[in-house]
Amino acid sequence: MEDVIIIGTGCAGWTAAIYTSRANLKPLVLAGAQVGGQLTTTTEVENFPGFPEGIDGWQLMENMKGQAEKFGARVEYVTAEGVTKRADGIFEIKAGEATLEAKAVIVATGASARMLGLPGEDTLYGKGGLTTCATCDGAFYPDMPVCVVGGGDSACEEATFLTRFASKVYLIHRRDELRASKIMAERALANPKIEPVWDNEVTAYHPGENNKMRAVGLRNLKTGEESELEVRGVFVAIGHVPNSAFLGDLVDLDENGYILQNPGRTATKTAGLFVAGDVADHFYRQAITAAGQGCAAALEAERWLAEQE
Ligand code: NAP
Repeated sequence: MEDVIIIGTGCAGWTAAIYTSRANLKPLVLAGAQVGGQLTTTTEVENFPGFPEGIDGWQLMENMKGQAEKFGARVEYVTAEGVTKRADGIFEIKAGEATLEAKAVIVATGASARMLGLPGEDTLYGKGGLTTCATCDGAFYPDMPVCVVGGGDSACEEATFLTRFASKVYLIHRRDELRASKIMAERALANPKIEPVWDNEVTAYHPGENNKMRAVGLRNLKTGEESELEVRGVFVAIGHVPNSAFLGDLVDLDENGYILQNPGRTATKTAGLFVAGDVADHFYRQAITAAGQGCAAALEAERWLAEQE
């Protein structure tokens, strides 16, 4: 039986592993389907404090993993499929054929960006000009035309942010009205660099040289007209799906599936179950805030375990 099992290997999970291993809890980390989390899909991370020259997203996660292992964290390359809590207070985590037991659990399973599901997505994502994070990748498109897909607050926020770098930002939405809050929508539409493309869906990615984005294919949903739009970067902002479903009744979720934490804490309604990072946070969604929450969850788990003795 483990003292603590950490589910997830993004910034929140590895930071929780660093802190719990340094507290001598010998955490077991379950790597999950996307080892290293969302940052492994970006290129250069330029806003993580301590790396003034930037650092490759994958490398940053490798560094965190190495740091956690140095202090005694162990990793199993399995995906948690379900968690239950027994009457004696012990958590059981189902992962493939195995059932793992722990006194405390830290959930750091993140959220997966919703994608359009078009051909070429796998190869273009990250280095090819297809991304889901303007804060991470916007600076790579100086004076270039880019597009944002979506009509919610995220799309408006991403589009507005991208005007700092891009020559032009097309906001491609499948309807003629934004879903975003009035203030975010007005701000985006008032920006002279942002040009809305209403009633259109993206039908294809068209890579050019070196398999980098050259253009997207569009279809007008009202007229059926097909067209092509030249862009170097495509920022997909059609929402995120928090990876929370596998926890069942142990947690409460908000209307979008994000886990509800106790006010001001990483603890949840289930004693001994702590949550950190994007699976609970749709507001900040940054590597550094996820890492901070991972630290907080580790400290709370450590104190909670001490209280149980
Ligand atoms: P969202 O509100 O769910 O909006 C998703 C957008 O993507 C919608 O406009 C939707 O179109 C579009 N969409 C969904 N699936 C699509 C598809 N397959 N193809 C094309 N378009 C598609 O998601 P979000 O913008 O990420 O926001 C999530 C939550 O976070 C919201 O509660 C939001 O208010 C909040 N948020 C707040 C802030 C802020 O306050 N600073 C910033 C970001 C997000 P339809 O409109 O046609 O459905």
